[in-house]
Amino acid sequence: MKRSQQNTFTSTCCYCGVGCGVVINKEKNGNITLEGDKDYPVNKGMLCSKGLNLHHTANDKSDRLLYPQMRYNKNMPMQRVSWNEALERTAAVFKTFINKYGPDSVAFYASGQCLTEEYYVVNKLIKGFIGSNNIDTNSRLCMSSAVAAYKIALGEDTVPLCYEDIELADCFYVTGANPAWCHPILWRRVEAHKAANPDVKIIVVDPRATDTCSIADLHLQINPGTDITLNHAIGRVLIENGDIDADFVTNHADGFEQYSKIVFERTVAEAALICGVAESEIRLAALYIGEAKGFISMWTMGLNQSAVGVNKNLSLINLNLITGHIGKPGSGPLSLTGQPNAMGGREVGGLANLLPAHRNLNNPAHRAEVQKFWGGTEIAEKPGLTATEMFEALNDGRLKAIWIMCTNPLTSLPNVRMAEEALKKAKFVVVQEISNKPETLAYADVILPAAAWAEKEGTMTNSERRISYLNKILDPPGEALPDSEIICRFAQKMGYKGFDFKDASEIYAEHARLTAKTNIDISGLSYEIIKQQRSVQWPYKKRSPAPATQRLFTDKKFYTESGKARIGAVPDTLTSEMPDDDFPFILTTGRIRDQWHTMSKTGKVNKLNQHIRQSFMEINPFDAEKLGIKEGHVTIITSRRGEIRVKAKLSPEIKKGVVFVPMHWGKILNSDMHRVNNITNDKVDPISKEPDFKYCAVSVVKFKKP
Ligand code: SF4
Repeated sequence: MKRSQQNTFTSTCCYCGVGCGVVINKEKNGNITLEGDKDYPVNKGMLCSKGLNLHHTANDKSDRLLYPQMRYNKNMPMQRVSWNEALERTAAVFKTFINKYGPDSVAFYASGQCLTEEYYVVNKLIKGFIGSNNIDTNSRLCMSSAVAAYKIALGEDTVPLCYEDIELADCFYVTGANPAWCHPILWRRVEAHKAANPDVKIIVVDPRATDTCSIADLHLQINPGTDITLNHAIGRVLIENGDIDADFVTNHADGFEQYSKIVFERTVAEAALICGVAESEIRLAALYIGEAKGFISMWTMGLNQSAVGVNKNLSLINLNLITGHIGKPGSGPLSLTGQPNAMGGREVGGLANLLPAHRNLNNPAHRAEVQKFWGGTEIAEKPGLTATEMFEALNDGRLKAIWIMCTNPLTSLPNVRMAEEALKKAKFVVVQEISNKPETLAYADVILPAAAWAEKEGTMTNSERRISYLNKILDPPGEALPDSEIICRFAQKMGYKGFDFKDASEIYAEHARLTAKTNIDISGLSYEIIKQQRSVQWPYKKRSPAPATQRLFTDKKFYTESGKARIGAVPDTLTSEMPDDDFPFILTTGRIRDQWHTMSKTGKVNKLNQHIRQSFMEINPFDAEKLGIKEGHVTIITSRRGEIRVKAKLSPEIKKGVVFVPMHWGKILNSDMHRVNNITNDKVDPISKEPDFKYCAVSVVKFKKP
């Protein structure tokens, strides 16, 4: 497939944060086909099962929302209306609530799948013109613990390394992640590197023996929730072995002394007992790290989705800091982004506690600077409601209206029945969506049809700070519009100035200007340059001799006030819901290989559904036997919040006392019995406000027909 051919375009996969490049061919019948982009530095032509089937999802319009719909009261059926009518009514309702109850009575709940330009305008609207910080996204459920930890440790929410460091590293510590299934193309690069260099060491930390373990030199099958204990113990052994970087911890980092004290509070043998692994395994992990010239730590939801997610992250980043493995080729802490544009969302400040370009909401000068730039209302100092807080606030009446765009919270939020009650009680719900399937639509007062991937142009940023350009290739079906256009039209109905953008490039240009003189500066990076180069890593400064940035902190100067990194003496406490006599098992949730989030896109593809057709509970055969459960038996899993019924899958690959259920399934034919978030806990990390999806207490019994 030659790029010079007419109707051939490049784009970026819209699933995970790896951010693979695709080449798309538009056929005469209007459908698309695609393949991996061989010239793209991220994937070099490779695509995983999800990426390879993107065109099926894009071509299948059977479930698409085609026109705006509305109802004037909760008892009326939805009816088709014009865009004008839908947006005028929505603006009138929002104005009424804002005038009567204040700007914090409304909120926007968006998604890490939004393009950067979409994020930018919705963030500008609520923070800069409505006067509330009530915008959050489903990235809160996935990345916010890593965001907070990077900021604490490095002074900025920033991934300091790049994918090319994979081929330069000789030790990987993969924890709380199953990249073989969830970030497959990045993992293919690790596999290829290991195959070519058998001395490269791979350590995997996971209570389950996943596919990622198949190439591991060491699998530390820890008890859930003991990550900090393990990381501290490894830190202790590194110090004992003299495998720390003395220059780095003395001259380029603060906190080593306190850190040493805390990691020496427990012996390695005690730590091994708590973690459920052998002491020798902890010592071997430390040996591999200590001997490495290039050391990469990799993690995702297993650390982030925890009641102590920030501390877990810090305990891991510490291992890079004490060994000085940061800011040099083949080294660094690499948080794997779950969603395709979670990082772009943070760049524009699209979370309840952020301002554009990583400015601080609690800094009056930053607020004033952004307000002046936007020319709107005063930016509120109080952080907005986060994902779970929004639904709590709908439940208790503080929040009157919510606008949900590009996400399906009634499958993805923890303790989801609480969220369902919240939407029932909400005075006004706007749902901006591509599909007619999400459960949220049943609670909507206004439904706005949005353009999907390949039907709009814009940019996204992947896990290595790589901004890429996505082409508009197809026309949206019916009257669907790009999300940014919907938000801008609404803002104008509200009477706000500064939303008359001609197209996405103008939105991007404004966003880029606002990053000037910040650590993520892309003010010199035009749409033309991104289009021409296909993708560029930030920061990208004007007139710089080497404008794109592969690696940060090569000069060992960090973005903290002291200019030094912070080694965190984090306490080793777990505040999750503990098992007891009534709920003796630990439930952990996660993804499967061929599905994405709540399956509204991947669930349309037969080939992908064939991998695993229905939800299940993975349980150790030892536990199953005690409960009289055999392979395929229907089981009831109950927590303090509800129950689900799924078939048992017996596997020695999971720790005794732990059960795993995938997160993808929601309501099926009005039954929510496969929806694992009926039973997950909505307890959150106190700093990041990320929920504890990876640990709650449940009971398991075999289902008996009445
Ligand atoms: Fe898409 Fe991620 Fe697969 Fe790459 S690895 S093709 S970005 S889902």
